[in-house]
Amino acid sequence: MAKWVYDFEEGSEQMRNLLGGKGAGLSEMTRIGLPVPPGFTITTEACKDYQKRGYISEEIKQETLEHLRKLEEKTAKKFGDPENPLLVSVRSGAPVSMPGMMDTILNLGLNDEAVEGLKKLTQNGRFAYDSYRRFIQMFGDVVMGVPHEEFEKILSYHKEKNGFKSDVELTEEVLKEVIADYKKLYREHTGKDFPQDPMEQLFLAIEAVFKSWNNPRAITYRMLNKIPDDLGTAVNIVMMVFGNMGNDSATGVAFTRNPSTGEKKLYGEYLVNAQGEDVVAGIRTPKQIDELKNEMPETYNELLRVANILEHHYRDMQDMEFTIERGKLYMLQTRSGKRTARAAVKIAVDMVKEGLITKEEAVLRVSTEQIDQLLHKMIDPKAEVKVIAKGLPASPGAASGKVVFDVKEAAQRGKIGEAVILVRPETTPEDLEGMAHSQGILTTRGGMTAHAAVVARGMGIPCIVGAESIKLDLENKTFVVNGVTVRENDIITIDGTTGNVILGEVPMVEPELSGEFEEFLKIADELRKLGVKANANTPEEARRARSYGAEGIGLCRTERMFLQPDRLPVMQDMIIAETPEERREHLSKLEPLQKKDFYEILKEMDGFPVIIRLLDPPLHEFLPQRERLEKEIEELRQTDFDSELLKKKERQLKRSKELSEFNPMIGFRGCRVGIIYPEIYEMQTQAIVDAAIQLKKEGFNPKPKIMLPLIGHVNEMRTLREKVEKIVKDKLNEAGMNLKIEIGTMVEVPRAALTADQIAQYADFFSYGTNDLTQTTFAYSRDDAEGTFLPYYLEHKILEKDPFMTIDRDGVGKLVRIGVVLGRHANPSLEIGVCGEHGGDPESIEFFHYAGLDYVSCSPFRVPIARLAAAQVSV
Ligand code: ADP
Ligand code: MG
Ligand code: MG
Repeated sequence: MAKWVYDFEEGSEQMRNLLGGKGAGLSEMTRIGLPVPPGFTITTEACKDYQKRGYISEEIKQETLEHLRKLEEKTAKKFGDPENPLLVSVRSGAPVSMPGMMDTILNLGLNDEAVEGLKKLTQNGRFAYDSYRRFIQMFGDVVMGVPHEEFEKILSYHKEKNGFKSDVELTEEVLKEVIADYKKLYREHTGKDFPQDPMEQLFLAIEAVFKSWNNPRAITYRMLNKIPDDLGTAVNIVMMVFGNMGNDSATGVAFTRNPSTGEKKLYGEYLVNAQGEDVVAGIRTPKQIDELKNEMPETYNELLRVANILEHHYRDMQDMEFTIERGKLYMLQTRSGKRTARAAVKIAVDMVKEGLITKEEAVLRVSTEQIDQLLHKMIDPKAEVKVIAKGLPASPGAASGKVVFDVKEAAQRGKIGEAVILVRPETTPEDLEGMAHSQGILTTRGGMTAHAAVVARGMGIPCIVGAESIKLDLENKTFVVNGVTVRENDIITIDGTTGNVILGEVPMVEPELSGEFEEFLKIADELRKLGVKANANTPEEARRARSYGAEGIGLCRTERMFLQPDRLPVMQDMIIAETPEERREHLSKLEPLQKKDFYEILKEMDGFPVIIRLLDPPLHEFLPQRERLEKEIEELRQTDFDSELLKKKERQLKRSKELSEFNPMIGFRGCRVGIIYPEIYEMQTQAIVDAAIQLKKEGFNPKPKIMLPLIGHVNEMRTLREKVEKIVKDKLNEAGMNLKIEIGTMVEVPRAALTADQIAQYADFFSYGTNDLTQTTFAYSRDDAEGTFLPYYLEHKILEKDPFMTIDRDGVGKLVRIGVVLGRHANPSLEIGVCGEHGGDPESIEFFHYAGLDYVSCSPFRVPIARLAAAQVSV
C-alpha cells in the first residue's frame, strides 16, 4: 500500500521530490536534532492523486488522521479541545522552491470554544482572539476566496473607531467585535457559517493547498522559471508556535551569510510580537537581526548555533525562517538561499577557502547568467547625480527608465522593449510579469526579504525597497519626495547597489573584474579543458580581452582597418585599379598602416597567439553606395565634365556594377578574392610578418597566426598556403629571424568540414566560423532570416532554438564533429577552435567541449562567461 504521509522523524533531505523542499528541510532539521515544532508531511504523490481525482481519497484522509492522532499524543494537546487545543499551520511546499507562490494557513484548529481554551492556557485573551481573527481572515481568503481587502476594511474600521494606530493596540473586546464582523462577512460571501469543526477546517485547507498548485500566479512562476507543471506540492502540517505572545516572542527570517554581498555574517530581519508572514509581506518594517543580540541575547546565540550547524550540514548558505515563542527558538524552514551574483561569487570562493566545498562544487554554485549580471553596467562614479531618495539596496546594478506605476502597463510596455521602472508600495506574486519586464523596481515599503527584493534578486533586476520618504499617489500617478514631484513617464535611475534613487538618466560605466571575481574565475581556469580566446579587432579590444582573461585572439578581423577614413580612399583606388601593378602601388600605401595595426595588437597580446584573418568581405562593400555615386556623378556633370574626380567616380560606379552580385553572402569574397587578386593577401602577410619582426627586435614575443577565410576546396588552401608561406619564409630569412607563423583556415563552408582530411594537410589550425557555417548549412541568410521567417519558426517550434545563438548540434554540430575527426586524422597536430558567436554561448560551449575542440573564441565581454561555462562542463 502506498504511503501518503510522513512524520518529520520519518523523512529526510533525500526525499525532496516526495516531501517537497519545505517538508524535506523540516524532516532533515528534525533528524539532526534542531528545534522544529512537531508535524508531518502529506506527499506530492497525494497532490497528484488529488489532481487526478478532483477530491482527496479516503485512504489519504485516513492516513492523515492517523498522523494527526500521533501529533496529538506527542504534543499532549487535542484538536478542537476547549481546554488545551492543538493548533497547526497548513503549509504548501513544492520540490522546487517557489517563494511566496503557495498559500499558508496559520492557527488552524481554532473555533469559538478552542479560543477560550487558548486564552485560559496562555492567560492572554488578547493573544488568543488575535490568533483567531487572523485564522478566520487567512482561511476565508486562501480557502474560500473571500477578498483580503474586505477583512482589512473591517479591521481598519474597528481600529479607527477606537483610535488605535497599530494592530498591537487592539484589545480583546475589540477583537471579539472584529471576529463577529469577520464571520458575517464570511457568511455573506460563502453562504455558509465559518466551520467550527477543526477536521473540516483541516481538510478544506489541505485541499486548498493542492488546488493552489494550479493558481495563476503559481503557473506564471513555473513558466518564468521553467519548472515542470507535474511536480505537485506537498502539504506540511506543523504544530503552531507563537511569535505573537508578547515582547519576548518574535518571528523572522535570516540568512547564514549576507545574500547581497556574500559577507560571512548572520543576516536577517525580525519583528517582535508578530506572526508568520508579517515579515515577508513587508507590512511593518522589521528590525535588523543584530538588534536581536541586545534584545534576546540567549536566543540570538541559539540562532547563531543553529545557523552554523545548518550551513555545515547543507554546505551552502541557508535562508531560514524562525519563530521565537517566549524566548524559545523554533526553526520553521531552511533552504539554500537565493543570492545576488556578487554574493554567489564571494560565497563560492570563501567556502572553498574554508574547506566547506570543493573547487568543482564552487564552479557549479555560480551560473553563467550571474556572471553575465556582474558584467553589467554601473553608474559612473564620476557622474554628478541628483539623488532624490534613498532606500534599501535590494538587488544590485543600475537601471534607467520611465516611471510606471501600474503593473500591467509595465508588463505591456516592457515587453515591447520600452525601458520602464516599476514604482509600487510593495509587490505581490501577482505582479511577477510586470516585474520581469521592468528594467528596475522601486518600492516604498518592506525590507531586504520583502517579496520585491527576493524576486528581483532572482531575476537579476536592479531593485530598491523601503524607500519610505517617497510619498506615492497611485491615483494621480505621481510621487513626491523631498519637494520633488515625479510623474508617470518621467525618467529616473535607480542604483540597486547603493539604494539611491536619481532623477533623470545618468552615465554608466563598464564593470571591471576584481577581487573575488578574479579568484573565482581562476578556479574555473584550473578546471576547464577548453582554452578561451577573444574575438578582437583593435588594440583596445585586445586590452579588454586580456583584462577579462582571454588567452589570445581567436579572430582578428582585418577589414575594419580598411574602413577608417584615411585608408578607405586608398582601398577604393586599389579596387578600381585595372592592373596588378597599379593595385600593388595602392596597396603599398596601405601596408605601413596595416603593419602598425598588427604591431599594436600583437604587442597588447604579447606572448599569446593572435589569429589574423586575411580580408574576407566582398570588395564592393568598400565602394560608396551605388545610388550615392549616381547622384554625385550627376551633380559633377552639371559643373565640370572633365575633372579627375568625375572620372574616378565613374570608374567606381562601373566597378561597383561589375562587382554587384545576386547573393553576396555566397559570392566573390574570402579566399576567392585572395586568389583572384593575390596582391591583397601578399600585402597583408608582409605587414603581419614585418610587425612581428619589429616586435621581436624590440624584445617582445609576438605569436601571429594567419587565417584564410571561406576555404571550401583543398586546392584553394594549397594555392594560398604556398603563396603566404613563401612570403613569410622570405621575410624571415631576410631578417635572419627564427619565428614560427602558423597558417590555417576558417571552416565555414560545409564542404570544408566534409573534406577536412584533405584541407588539414595544408592547415596548421582550423577555426570554425560557426556564424557563416550556420548560414551555409541551413542556406539561411542571417540578416534576412531574422526579419522574415525565423521568428515564426521559433515561435511555432519548427526550430527549437535560434541556430545563430545556440549551435544546431544535429546539423551544424555534425559538420563540426566530422571536421574534427577527419582533420585530426590527417594532421594529428591540428589545433581546432571556434570563433563564431557560439563561442560565447554556454550551451554551445558544452557541445564544443564534447566535440573535442581545443578552444573557443568569443567577444571580450563574454570571456568570463566562457571561462566559467568551460569549467562547468569539465567537472
Ligand atoms: P512560504 O512558503 O510563503 O514562506 P510558509 O509555509 O513558510 O510560507 O509560512 C510562512 C510563515 O508562516 C513562516 O515563515 C512562519 O513565520 C509562519 N508559520 C508557518 N508555520 C508556522 C507554525 N507552525 N508556527 C508558527 N509560525 C508558522
Ligand atoms: Mg516560508
Ligand atoms: Mg565568415
